[in-house]
Amino acid sequence: MGCALQKQERVHGSPEPEFFRRIVESISDGIVVIDEHSTILYCNPAVERLFGWPDGQLAGRPIEVLLPEEYRARHQFRVRAFAQGEAQSRRMGNRQAHILGRRHDGSEVSLGITILRSGSMMMAVIRDLSDWVRENRELERLANTDPLSGLQNRRGFTEAAERAIREGPGEGCRFFLMMLDIDFFKQVNDRHGHDAGDTAIRNLAAVMREALRANDLVARWGGEEFVALLPMNGRKEALLVAERLRGRIAAASFPVAPGTVINMTASIGLVGARGGGESLDSFVRRADLALYEAKAKGRNRVVFRSG
Ligand code: GH3
Ligand code: MG
Ligand code: MG
Repeated sequence: MGCALQKQERVHGSPEPEFFRRIVESISDGIVVIDEHSTILYCNPAVERLFGWPDGQLAGRPIEVLLPEEYRARHQFRVRAFAQGEAQSRRMGNRQAHILGRRHDGSEVSLGITILRSGSMMMAVIRDLSDWVRENRELERLANTDPLSGLQNRRGFTEAAERAIREGPGEGCRFFLMMLDIDFFKQVNDRHGHDAGDTAIRNLAAVMREALRANDLVARWGGEEFVALLPMNGRKEALLVAERLRGRIAAASFPVAPGTVINMTASIGLVGARGGGESLDSFVRRADLALYEAKAKGRNRVVFRSG
């Protein structure tokens, strides 16, 4: 009991400055202290490791040497604003919106930074977020990709299409939306098995990717249904592209298992963007109606609906 109390007293007492120095020198977060002119007064070994600088070379240099060139001017402005402002501390950078630093070799590193002010000095605690950012990007990519076809999935398409529509189709262009569904696909599964069906879906995705351009957004909407957002000059060009795709699918031989090659056809619904802030949902619904019409009219065809 008495022993525990003594321990507690030590914890709550004032450790020697030497104790703090050891903490600062051994932690993995970088700590850097600058003066009012942004000159580095002190940095711990973690900063040198993080930014790949040789021992003892950073002191006396401007903090901007740790930033990519395009951020340097803005950073000086921000440091001044923080130095003159009310706030004593601020956190910058998280997993979504990290800050970029520049290593000695010129490469960039993702950072999370907390800055503190003490009189005319400022201190930054710097954490390397590179692993988090990389993992986050990979998770995002996986969440947006259809593992079977390698195309974007519905989630990825929705995100990318909404962004593309916000940014606009480009000079002289209009967006067209294509909904494609394989005809009588159930029969492929019934006759050749589910694995052959999977292979057929993968092969058809490859035909779509080849038939469309790099800036067309192509995705697997679900099941044996695909979607594409096409920036085109006009209805004529869009119809030509859809018709060419339909023809290629109908003409292709799809190997689905060793020694088994099948033919498939697909129906396509095509619509043009209305403009005036139509939602992607409504755009897709209209393409779906056109697809439904293509099925009803006998399949293996393109139906363009203007309304
Ligand atoms: P329709 O011409 O009217 O489109 O006829 P269909 O047989 O293609 O249409 P339906 O919607 O009745 O059947 C689609 C089939 O697609 C049913 C489902 O088993 C199959 N399917 C959906 N997703 C997959 C998949 O990932 N792999 C495989 N092998 N089959 C799938
Ligand atoms: Mg189908
Ligand atoms: Mg279907």
